[in-house]
Amino acid sequence: MDPHIRFTSTRLADGRELVYVDDSEPYVSGAATRRLDDPRPLRDRFAPVPGPDGMTVPVVGPQMRRDPLTGDWIPMATHRMDRTFLPAADACPLCPAKPGAAYSDGEIPDTDYDVAVFENRFPALLQVPGHEAGGDGTTLVDDEPLWQARPAAGRCEVVVFSSDHDASFADLSPRRARTIVDTWAQRTQALSALPGVEQVFCFENRGREIGVTLPHPHGQIYALPYVTPRTQAMLGQAAAHRERTGRSLLRDVLDAERRAGTRVVLESTHWTAYVPAAARWPVEVHLAPHRDVPDLPALDDDERDDLAVTYLELLRRLDRFFVDPVSGASIPLPYIAGWHQAVVGPGRDLGRLHLQVFSVLRAPGKLKYLAGVESGMAAWISDTTPERIAARLQELGSQEVGSGGARPREAGA
Ligand SMILES: [Zn+2]
Repeated sequence: MDPHIRFTSTRLADGRELVYVDDSEPYVSGAATRRLDDPRPLRDRFAPVPGPDGMTVPVVGPQMRRDPLTGDWIPMATHRMDRTFLPAADACPLCPAKPGAAYSDGEIPDTDYDVAVFENRFPALLQVPGHEAGGDGTTLVDDEPLWQARPAAGRCEVVVFSSDHDASFADLSPRRARTIVDTWAQRTQALSALPGVEQVFCFENRGREIGVTLPHPHGQIYALPYVTPRTQAMLGQAAAHRERTGRSLLRDVLDAERRAGTRVVLESTHWTAYVPAAARWPVEVHLAPHRDVPDLPALDDDERDDLAVTYLELLRRLDRFFVDPVSGASIPLPYIAGWHQAVVGPGRDLGRLHLQVFSVLRAPGKLKYLAGVESGMAAWISDTTPERIAARLQELGSQEVGSGGARPREAGA
């Protein structure tokens, strides 16, 4: 384990796991330990719950069903959970506890933390003890063989990037960003080892415009018990490309983008960011390592340090992408940043790590809503061109002053 961070795992009052990830003293050396108990009067999350007739019934995990027309699995997060203690509307459950305050419903019991990870309280995917029995747990809906159902037995975690409610990822120091990279890597490793997990997806949803209800800086990790439709499609393309050429598709795409250069927006020692040649979102950038690695755990020390700096620079540019036409102020970009990692099982050799960042904002105050042909047919139509997106991000790079990473050399330097 990296000596510059320390992972401390404990359990919340309802049995969910909480992991403190510390990079500051006196915690990182072990001279002090974060608060490990959770004072909230929460019931065990797997304890039987009262049914409508007053009798208790066992907790049932979420189910997922397979769409026979597309082969896609659709989780249905309607399982029984104890929602007795919902947080007050004005309380942020991700903020640290207030020193000396009475009971509150914060998810992190300590009065401060660096980075924290915990299991989502109302998860779409959940492994319920005792429910994994019997093969892969496949059952039939209405006894029809066309309609397969399985427990949606995965795991959903929340990663809190900072104890500062008003911060955003782009504001963090390179050191804290590195801590988060290590956290993603450690969680990917831990979650990939859970029974039945086929894919681990680390992502951040930022901005009210895309339905984020908690402004506190955080991301999520889904450990999925199936391979997602997008990954399935990408694996199919990668397999066909290997069959045809003997090479890695993602490697070839990165090489081609670097050769063409037109859409490359940032290049560091170990990473290149580019707008893909067939980008579909109004703003979209991919960030890929120069070395072939399957996932975040496979990154070495230098690549992680470089990633922390490079990713911060990319986010800072994205936050200046749109400017308010009246005030001239930059508009913090609502974005989704998601890590594509190799799957756990068959097809793992076809995967290659990369980050996809995209936004639904197409102009100040204007969101891209999915058109009928996009929602109905998954047939995408771009409102801009990848070259235009890249030109804007390149322009922002050349204006840059201050923090490190790839930027033009100053005259006479
Ligand atoms: Zn908060």
